[in-house]
Amino acid sequence: MSTQTANQTVLVTGASSGIGQGIAIAFGQQGANVIINYHSDEEGARHTLSEVEKGGGKGFVCQADVGKEEDVTRLFQAAVDTYGTIDVVVSNAGIQKDSAFSDMTLDQWNKVMTTNLTGYFLCAREAIKIFSQKGEAGPGDKAKGNIIFMSSVHDIIPWAGHVNYASSKGGILMLMKSLALEVAPKKIRVNAISPGAIATDINDDVWKDEEKMKELLKLIPYQRIGQPEDVAKVATWLASEDSDYVTGTTIYVDGGMTLYPG
Ligand code: NAD
Repeated sequence: MSTQTANQTVLVTGASSGIGQGIAIAFGQQGANVIINYHSDEEGARHTLSEVEKGGGKGFVCQADVGKEEDVTRLFQAAVDTYGTIDVVVSNAGIQKDSAFSDMTLDQWNKVMTTNLTGYFLCAREAIKIFSQKGEAGPGDKAKGNIIFMSSVHDIIPWAGHVNYASSKGGILMLMKSLALEVAPKKIRVNAISPGAIATDINDDVWKDEEKMKELLKLIPYQRIGQPEDVAKVATWLASEDSDYVTGTTIYVDGGMTLYPG
């Protein structure tokens, strides 16, 4: 088992289920301190914590809505109060509110943008403040902080019926790149992971339905749906010193989905 992130403090948003849960557990297995953020599923978050502890890590659960400024401030402060600082932030919380564009309500648009894009901005801003308190960094120093944004293949593949979701993910792409450029001289790394189809609650209508699965697999050259662990392994690598020269980039974890023309 790798111990690359042992004793690091890692904050994962939306970690009560799915990809965020898988990532929190993977960091726990490396011996990290993990702050497990959840929105409404406290039981799911407590399950994540027990798996983190089983794996040898430590941590705590913290309720916060990533779209609310005061909640995000409180979440990051709780992490600093407990562990002194934060080393890695995985901004993962995300939602879909699907609709044909002409029927899309402003509420559906705003909810998705607030969680998927404004939430990422708010978490990244707190992360940068905390990383910057670690002092000046020289050109030869290793990263003093890592931000990982959970994006989607729909940051580059258009998605009819999901214009709000795809727009939020396209926004994350440029948030990631512009921020990475701005903070690279401070030795802060910012990257994104863009998953394809991963079996989680967000798309359980598809992977639990045989016919829909057949259609989905036609879009995946590697011929299988992904699991949260497929994404988690990339997240722990992106947070480790092994990827110290990687910033401002997106890693597609999609079984080749982005190879097909849109
Ligand atoms: P999921 O529904 O299991 O996880 C999303 C998590 O975000 C949930 O735990 C939910 O409670 C939390 N959340 C929602 N709104 C929140 C808020 N306002 N504040 C805090 N937490 C909130 O689905 P998932 O597939 O694990 O999704 C995780 C991320 O991965 C999302 O950003 C999603 O867009 C992205 N993604 C998923 C897939 C996929 O196929 N599963 C593909 C591409 C991208």
